[in-house]
Amino acid sequence: MATETLNTRCAIAGGGPAGVMLGYLLARAGVDAVVLEKHADFFRDFRGDTIHPSTLQVMYELGLLDEFLKRPHQEVRQLAAQIGDEMVQVADFSHLPTHCGFIAFMPQWHFLDFLADAGKRYPTFHLHMQSEVDELLKDGDRVVGLKAATPKGDLEIRADLVVGCDGRHSTVRALAGLEVEDLGAPMDVLWLRLSRHPEDGSESLGRIEPGRFFIMLDRGDYWQCAFVIPKGGFNELRRKGLEAFRLALVALKPELKNRVREIASWDDVKLLTVRVDRLKKWYRPGLLCIGDAAHAMSPIGGVGVNLAVQDAVATANILATPLRDGTLTEEDLRKVQKRRLLPTELTQALQVFIQNRVISNVLNMKAEPKPPLVARLLNRFSWLRRWPARLIGMGFRPEHVHTQEAAPAAAE
Ligand SMILES: Cc1cc2nc3c(=O)[nH]c(=O)nc-3n(C[C@H](O)[C@H](O)[C@H](O)COP(=O)(O)OP(=O)(O)OC[C@H]3O[C@@H](n4cnc5c(N)ncnc54)[C@H](O)[C@@H]3O)c2cc1C
Repeated sequence: MATETLNTRCAIAGGGPAGVMLGYLLARAGVDAVVLEKHADFFRDFRGDTIHPSTLQVMYELGLLDEFLKRPHQEVRQLAAQIGDEMVQVADFSHLPTHCGFIAFMPQWHFLDFLADAGKRYPTFHLHMQSEVDELLKDGDRVVGLKAATPKGDLEIRADLVVGCDGRHSTVRALAGLEVEDLGAPMDVLWLRLSRHPEDGSESLGRIEPGRFFIMLDRGDYWQCAFVIPKGGFNELRRKGLEAFRLALVALKPELKNRVREIASWDDVKLLTVRVDRLKKWYRPGLLCIGDAAHAMSPIGGVGVNLAVQDAVATANILATPLRDGTLTEEDLRKVQKRRLLPTELTQALQVFIQNRVISNVLNMKAEPKPPLVARLLNRFSWLRRWPARLIGMGFRPEHVHTQEAAPAAAE
């Protein structure tokens, strides 16, 4: 099949939160950007669905917030967890010094669809679906573009910069030979759907029982459920049989008894392997990785989407001008890593601490869990709940949009 060739300033591999946000921001700043996404649409389950206050602040700064919040979502101002028989309040977002004092739970496809639609306003925004990046073009040591397989044949893109935003199993970072440091994760997550009944109430819930960690997210007519298991434990669970798994769910939430048979086979239970890792160097000449491609995040705190968005904002802030002017250097790419490394390291350190000190303990626990001292203090003193809210909702060093919207005439 024919090979189509394109030229652009920035070729972005991967249309997840990092890639679509970066494409949008660069195009808005008048920089020609091509985003390549291997799937035909964004409509997939089991992706991060939490839009945090710092990301909502970015949407506000972009003038997109009001339109964005018209998409179906839930606004969560407080987070609670049921530990054994006790319900404890752990975070209160309503006092955060941001435009929105809440987390918006929104299926990720709405978020990506929204940004992709917003990008279409700019002639410099190009989104190619069904385009799977499988090769980097090189000139000596320098990356000068990429190749993608599409239903119409190969697509070859020459670019001043290739950005790998292709997630935790990044092809780009592997092709670029960037070294990955594995920080380890003691658990995996099973995702499944169960129907939501009118009498259920709507509160998304985290539940901790001996050896079990279970989360239910309200998705309108169904619950998106996450069941945390020890790393590599899926085969053992399968050996015990589907009925034993259904009973384990009922033990956690007896109200589910009338619908666990909706899990008709193991095909209805999706395994997501959790990884926490980080690139030692996020760039090489002509290439940069951001989002999960640079640092795969654990689901703890639901901060991965937010970090990916923050990376995109910082990348656009630092690179939009040199990209537009054609003066990009390796030093500019180094500045992006320097800017985002500390927030990434601190967030991952916290996630690894919680994985090893809390999740591992819960998964190995035999007796009924009791809320630890810190949870009891949070439950007792409402003002203390502002701290976890700040850590989860805003993260370390939140980014702000510094790029200006290009006048249409200035667009390439
Ligand atoms: C079990 C689990 C639950 C999670 N829950 C949450 C949560 O609730 N909230 C939260 O904020 N974070 C959550 N996370 C983390 C979050 O999903 C990620 O951190 C976030 O999606 C990273 O965004 P990204 O754009 O960097 O990568 P991704 O979201 O992974 O997007 C990468 C994109 O690249 C595409 N792609 C891959 N390879 C290619 C290729 N070769 N060519 C073209 N396209 C390609 C993929 O199809 C995908 O669309 C969770 C993670 C796990 C494992």
